[in-house]
Amino acid sequence: MPPRAATPRAPAKINAQTATPDLVLKGPPDSDKRAQLAQLFETVSVCTKCALGSQRTQAVFGVGNYDADLMFIGEAPGANEDRMGIPFVGNAGKLLTQELEKNNIPRDDVFIANILKCRPPENRDPLPGEIEQCSPYLLQQIDIIKPKLLCGLGRFACGLLMKQQIPIMKLRGTWSQYHGLPLFICLHPSAILHNPNNRELFIQDIAQLAKTYHEKRQ
Ligand code: URA
Repeated sequence: MPPRAATPRAPAKINAQTATPDLVLKGPPDSDKRAQLAQLFETVSVCTKCALGSQRTQAVFGVGNYDADLMFIGEAPGANEDRMGIPFVGNAGKLLTQELEKNNIPRDDVFIANILKCRPPENRDPLPGEIEQCSPYLLQQIDIIKPKLLCGLGRFACGLLMKQQIPIMKLRGTWSQYHGLPLFICLHPSAILHNPNNRELFIQDIAQLAKTYHEKRQ
C-alpha cells in the first residue's frame, strides 16, 4: 500500500478557562508536594523571564497527580493549551490520552508538563534561550514529584533531559536516564498528526512504556 499522505487537521475548538492550582494539581490536599507545586505555580504564572511571557493568555504549569509514578514531558503549549491552561488538551493530547487509556493508564494517574510553560507564536520550535530560562521550572517539578519513570515526548524533551541533541527516530522506544531516573524516549504525538505513517510506532512506544510502568507498580 502506498504511504498515507499527512492530512491537516482542524484545531479542536476548546473554550477558555483560567487554570488554578486546584484545577491542575490532583492528590491529597495536605501533601507537602502539593504545597511546593502550588507555590511554584504562582511563580510560573507571573513569569516574564522571556518574551513569551508577554504573549501568552496564561502560563501552562502542568497537570495531574503529584504523587505520580510516571511523568510525561512535552515541548510547549499550543493554542488550545494556552486557552485552557492545561497541557495536551488538543489533538496531540487526545492521541496521548487515548493510548494511555488503551494501556490501562488513566490520564489522571500521571503528571504531564512541558519544557516551556508559555506558548511560542505559531507553535514554532522552542528557542535555546527560552529553554534555558524556562527549563528550571520543569526540573523543579520533577524534583518535587519524584516519579519512578519519566517519559520524554519528542526530541526537545528527551534532548533537554539527556543534555544532548538526539536522533529521535533512532532512539525512540529505548531508555536513557535523568539524574538516576529511567527516562523513556518516545515520539511526540504531534509528530504523528503530521505524519500518520508513524502512528504505529507511537502506539508501540506507549505500549512498551506501559508494560514497564505496570511492572514497577506491582
Ligand atoms: N504539544 C506539547 O508538547 N505540549 C502540549 O501541551 C501540547 C502539544
